[in-house]
Amino acid sequence: SEDTEKTTTSKKSAFDAETASLLVKELRGAFGSGKTRSYQWRVSQLNALMKLVVDREQEIVDALRNDLAKPPLETVAYEIAMLKNSCKVALKELKHWMIPEKVKTSIATFPSSAEIVSEPLGVVLVISAWNYPFLLSLDPVIGAIAAGNAVVLKPSEISPATSSLLAKLLGDYLDISCIRVVEGGVDETSALLQQKWDKIFYTGNGRVARVVMAAAAKHLTPVLLELGGKSPVVVDSNINLKVATRRLIAGKWGCNNGQACISPDYVITTKDCAPKLVDALKTELEKFYGKNPLESKDLSRIVNSNHFNRLTKLLDDDKVSGKIVYGGEKDESLLKISPTVLLDVPRDSLIMSEEIFGPLLPILTVDKVEESFDVINSGPKPLAAYIFTSNKKLKEQFVTNISAGGVVVNDTSLHLAVHSLPFGGVGESGVGAYHGKFSFDAFSHKKAVLYRSFFGDAAIRYPPYTNTKMRL
Ligand code: NAD
Repeated sequence: SEDTEKTTTSKKSAFDAETASLLVKELRGAFGSGKTRSYQWRVSQLNALMKLVVDREQEIVDALRNDLAKPPLETVAYEIAMLKNSCKVALKELKHWMIPEKVKTSIATFPSSAEIVSEPLGVVLVISAWNYPFLLSLDPVIGAIAAGNAVVLKPSEISPATSSLLAKLLGDYLDISCIRVVEGGVDETSALLQQKWDKIFYTGNGRVARVVMAAAAKHLTPVLLELGGKSPVVVDSNINLKVATRRLIAGKWGCNNGQACISPDYVITTKDCAPKLVDALKTELEKFYGKNPLESKDLSRIVNSNHFNRLTKLLDDDKVSGKIVYGGEKDESLLKISPTVLLDVPRDSLIMSEEIFGPLLPILTVDKVEESFDVINSGPKPLAAYIFTSNKKLKEQFVTNISAGGVVVNDTSLHLAVHSLPFGGVGESGVGAYHGKFSFDAFSHKKAVLYRSFFGDAAIRYPPYTNTKMRL
């Protein structure tokens, strides 16, 4: 046991604050050499990242199968294809993004010209989460590289197969003098957070985000926080219920079995519409996942027993007993929970008081669909908000009155795939946004540059401050 103790101790101290400080120093040296600023370096690294994703697709699929039993199609469509697209967009647009933006000047500076220069921030830290561990690690890294930074990536220890694959592949494909992976959990992340960074990009829950923000405050380091929340879905009557239900299922169970940040968390519909929606959900869920969804290969499992127990507790709450109208099966040995629908859960139940982040879908009912606005606005601002309706006025009211990171009308989750839209939260669902050009901007400083010549030197600026000058 002494040996075990020693191993544990030495393992624990393998990456401490001192090692982290040396790492940052090394990367600061590399950044200081100017290497990451050049267009050529950025392009070479983005191309290498693209090659990594293309060459190693099968290993990525396997790692995600290990970590989450993630269906290969979901890995290919939502992690690999999205990353390829991010690389493609950055490679296509980078030259344009890097060009200083000419802006107008004012009469007070006449004659002059001005521009906004995007400069890299320096050495940045990316801390990522376990649910889309490949995408959420590399997508921010693409932004950091495109903007010309040196970067340290800390993948989530909760998806260990992906974490170690990322460490191996980034080492093999990318320039390790400027791009590094540090694996580990709380200890390693804490050691990293003690260092001075030029930006910290964090994806995960709000509790840890507060730890990250407090650590960043010590050095006045800016943060980008990609968090979650309870993303609502409003279902109006007089819609194509079949299509709406299929899209709701695709966003909920078809994205990592509900373990996605923009996953529909709960539904609000009218008392009239609720039974029809429940019937449609039952029919479509059975078509997609069969009579025994615990055996379906098209559903991810719950990531670990902590999260399995957390979700089970939400179902065991006395306040929701008898409210399950579909599903509710679970298998602890396989960490599987079937798609589960609950009808008319009380708003003060446990399931309505925290982000579910799993395959449980409560449905709340209201008399009039407009009442859903008050329900949503009474909680923290969510990362996403969805509405299914054919009513033009209701669409407009939803977009105007619901504050959320993003809104989708008549679908779920797809805004994530539009790179010209910023992806991020508001209020408790996050700070800042990325994707496409927003990623480049997130890792750049917008430097204001004013150019003057030696002409037009107005005497009014200089003392003596006479009354005549005052009147001019
Ligand atoms: P997680 O457990 O993987 O934690 C995220 C990161 O924080 C990990 O790298 C982990 O090592 C680190 N961490 C954990 N505890 C820490 C501590 N005490 N100090 C420092 N670092 C620590 O992921 P999670 O938080 O369970 O992720 C789920 C949450 O993330 C949900 O709320 C979800 O909505 C949100 N999320 C948001 C997005 C987005 O893009 N907005 C994407 C995915 C997940």
